[in-house]
Amino acid sequence: MIVTKKKPIEEILKALGPARKIFIIGCGDCAATCKTGGEKEIAEIKTELEANEKIVTGWAIPDSPCIASQTKLHFAKNKKAVDEADAFLVMSCGLGGQSVFENDRNKRPVYIGCDTMFGAILDATGAGFFERCAMCGECVLNITAGICPVTRCAKGLLNGPCGGANKGKCEVDKDRDCAWVLIYNRLKDLGRLDDLKKIKPAKDHSKASRPREIVLGGQA
Ligand code: SF4
Ligand code: SF4
Repeated sequence: MIVTKKKPIEEILKALGPARKIFIIGCGDCAATCKTGGEKEIAEIKTELEANEKIVTGWAIPDSPCIASQTKLHFAKNKKAVDEADAFLVMSCGLGGQSVFENDRNKRPVYIGCDTMFGAILDATGAGFFERCAMCGECVLNITAGICPVTRCAKGLLNGPCGGANKGKCEVDKDRDCAWVLIYNRLKDLGRLDDLKKIKPAKDHSKASRPREIVLGGQA
């Protein structure tokens, strides 16, 4: 999931500038889970905007505003309120914000109310978000016992530890486990320590050159 953090209201108001009539779009998936774009948060930002002389023409929470069909569906369901707005405020990641812009036929201004932080897994408590994948385009999990060195090693080392770990903790942050100690221990438990000898070539950064695109079946 994509983790987001709400921007301070002062920053949101500054971005909105003279835009007066606002339609708010949340996100029922990632942003709702990290409490930036669900019903409660949309109600809060609505109150904040109205307290600052904005008119909220309406709001919608697509399951995933980053998916065109869902954004369009909610535009259609809320046509009157959407038509009345002179700008959108999107409480989601940057993907949702750009999807709203790309799918608004009238190309009205779209403002984003959140900062997009990182791709994370959510722990069993529902409150802990942990970065575990940087979407590098060349996954090495199969030979690192399922532990990502790109995100979990402070230096992103692919071929073993830097040598600075102390009692299993990272030299960059003593409160964090050294990723390579975790990888070693896990490989040992699996009886696969030989995987450590599999040298990983330098990363092919062309696989992560932007913007990345995949079009299934060759058609947009
Ligand atoms: S190696 Fe890490 S960053 Fe790269 S794709 Fe795999 S999990 Fe993601
Ligand atoms: S101590 Fe471990 S996690 Fe920290 S930078 Fe070195 S190898 Fe990476």
